Amino acid sequence: MKNYISAVFMGVVLVSCGSKKPYVESEKAYKVQLEAYKKQISSMQAAQLSLQEQVSELYKESTKDELTRYKDSITLKKPVTLPYGIKSEWVSTVNFNLRKPNYIIIHHTAQDSLAQTVKMFTNPDRQVSAHYVIGDDGTVVQMLNDYLRAWHAGAGTWGKDTDINSVSIGIELDNNGFEPFSLKQINSLLALLTKLKKEYNIPTQNILGHADIAPTRKQDPSALFPWKALAANGFGLWQDEILTEAPLDFQVEPALRIIGYSTKNLNAAILAFKRHYIPEEPDSVLDRKTINTIYSIYKKQP
Ligand SMILES: [Zn+2]
Repeated sequence: MKNYISAVFMGVVLVSCGSKKPYVESEKAYKVQLEAYKKQISSMQAAQLSLQEQVSELYKESTKDELTRYKDSITLKKPVTLPYGIKSEWVSTVNFNLRKPNYIIIHHTAQDSLAQTVKMFTNPDRQVSAHYVIGDDGTVVQMLNDYLRAWHAGAGTWGKDTDINSVSIGIELDNNGFEPFSLKQINSLLALLTKLKKEYNIPTQNILGHADIAPTRKQDPSALFPWKALAANGFGLWQDEILTEAPLDFQVEPALRIIGYSTKNLNAAILAFKRHYIPEEPDSVLDRKTINTIYSIYKKQP
């Protein structure tokens, strides 16, 4: 017992000796790690750059100020006062990294050229952007670091996720909305998806179209987009080749909701689903084939 008491006493002495700045080591480690992450979000390395210098330079200029702001804001470590006057303290942990994207949203630009889209995304008045734009000829232009938040999804939702921009990478395909997607463009998209899915461990069912997450507002990518080919390469879900008959008590609306669709406007959700999975019938008719296809995708939910 005596030994135990003296051990406790010694412990108290040791702790109190080092208690002037007890977290100085973790503070140091936090800072070192943060510097590495600041470098990571500042990286402007692109896989391929084939734009005119002029446009690239314009982009660099427009990004600099914003980037400084975000680099500074991730360095902030001040205690804050919460509602009701409750004060928080700061102690740096050493166990952290950057938040990463968990969805990929595919769009078509509804523009006439890659240059037109890049110009729009470098214009502060337009308030829209994406991480990547892929040209008709397969050119891939990266416009934003993957860790930063682009403005491509708008007021979209998927399941209970209501801020898709915060959790996704946006990929825009140069396409006017009425033309087929070129083979070169799709090949570049597949290459990009391969890299991103692996790098961020993105679940295959989280590779979606803009219209899937915003069925009342958006139609992109159009019914000409090859979702089946993407799924065959491991990106996105696809229905069974031979559909099984949905049970009699199978309910379409909750099933679509469980898949992720907002069903506030059920017709819009059915149309978005068919544009994606039954592109030869891009309408909101709920026939047997549609119900069985919804059932097939519903059964594949993790
Ligand atoms: Zn879109």
